[in-house]
Amino acid sequence: MAESDGKRGMTSKTIFIMKQTMLVTALLLGLGWMLASCDNSNPSVNENPTPVIVEESTLPIEEEVVDTLFRSYDEAEDTVMFQSYVFFSQPIPKDVELRMRGRSLTDTTKITFDQLRYLTLPYYDYDGNIQSGEMVCNKAIAHDLLCVFRDLFSQAYPIYSIRLMDDFDADDEASMQANNTSCFNYRNRSGVNMLSQHAYGMAVDINPLQNPCVRGTRFRPSTAAEYVDRSKDFEHKIDENDYCVKVFTAYGFRWGGRWSSTKDYQHFEK
Ligand SMILES: [Zn+2]
Repeated sequence: MAESDGKRGMTSKTIFIMKQTMLVTALLLGLGWMLASCDNSNPSVNENPTPVIVEESTLPIEEEVVDTLFRSYDEAEDTVMFQSYVFFSQPIPKDVELRMRGRSLTDTTKITFDQLRYLTLPYYDYDGNIQSGEMVCNKAIAHDLLCVFRDLFSQAYPIYSIRLMDDFDADDEASMQANNTSCFNYRNRSGVNMLSQHAYGMAVDINPLQNPCVRGTRFRPSTAAEYVDRSKDFEHKIDENDYCVKVFTAYGFRWGGRWSSTKDYQHFEK
């Protein structure tokens, strides 16, 4: 049994190495062809060669996919696997626009659809299953969010759900009580007559039930009482040592857990 497993493992490994070899060969051939083309067009520039820029994407303008290849190692089979997942950014599709109108984006808002992007984000849920999430954000941070969620995914960081605010009728409290991770929602800051960074699609709330917004004795969502005391240890708590804080801050986001008066543990913004 062990022997046949080993053979099967070797076979998979061999196929993998062959595929990798073919890929590398194809890349080298392509690179060689490009270099040869450069040489033909201008053979005198060898002393100061300019770097070869390889186009990463042939997608239509304003659409983007970030690195999608994930490596995993199956110890029993002694096999390295590569699996592709798509982290995708695109202009707001028509059907999403219809879902948003009159909910997260109304006619009186100061932001327009062409300033926003629709993201497709694979993630691990609390049960460790891979799900596909959707998020609307400002196009200024679309690329960074693709990278953030790619990095979170690479560490199998658990996220309860990633759905549009429109699925909750743009009701922030309802979305938080449902422990939903989200970004864009045209609304004021809690209890203040001033637009939130969410209104510009420049802020993300992660796992809000375990990471409430706390100000003095008040907190939101109202169902998060058991998660207000941050000295307690519990699952899905975002604190200074949490990977989520490391990733978001690495991409230039500020974390609401570091604010002085209000502590918004779910909140990351630019
Ligand atoms: Zn927030």
